[in-house]
Amino acid sequence: MSGDQTLLAEGRRISLELTKQGLCEYCKQPTEHGPWTDAQLAEVIADLGCELSDFADHCDDCFVVHVGGGDVEHSQSLLKRPLLLAHPEHLAQVQRLKFMAAAKALQDFRAKHGPGYRQSPSSLPLWEEFFKHAPPDVMKKFEDKAMELNLIPDTKFVNDAGDPVFSAEQIAEKLGMPVAEVEKQMRERFADKIETGNVHSIQ
Ligand SMILES: [Zn+2]
Repeated sequence: MSGDQTLLAEGRRISLELTKQGLCEYCKQPTEHGPWTDAQLAEVIADLGCELSDFADHCDDCFVVHVGGGDVEHSQSLLKRPLLLAHPEHLAQVQRLKFMAAAKALQDFRAKHGPGYRQSPSSLPLWEEFFKHAPPDVMKKFEDKAMELNLIPDTKFVNDAGDPVFSAEQIAEKLGMPVAEVEKQMRERFADKIETGNVHSIQ
């Protein structure tokens, strides 16, 4: 066995030992499901179709972070029982890491493509990822900047949830673009952002 394999085998032995004691492989805190008897372990191994040495138990928080990639909804879809999260704040840390990775990806993109990088269509997925994980304080800064640059039209319409909705005419006026061009770009690039529900005038 190479040194790495020895380490791996040792890691698995420790994980299994923790599992038998009813402790989480990652944070070593008691899980909701353990401790496991040898008979229970044999049953679950047969059920999963894996080797005993491949089995390790996790608390629900670590399951979301390490198995579900920080996505609570996705993690829940992998389990038959409801998730019991003791430390939802760990998930905020995962969000933060994802946001930092997205910011780094944008930075690298800018370094490679120069100042015109914002106009490149291939930057769009990077921006989407960036805004998807951006914490509220960062979102607020972007909104404030957009306000300052006078890029956001006045709120004249809202949807059923009360969120502002802008017409293509309003956006075209702000950006100095033809309405038809705004409509075309919305359809091509932001189809999922087009309001499909009720829109109410607030003036
Ligand atoms: Zn844990």
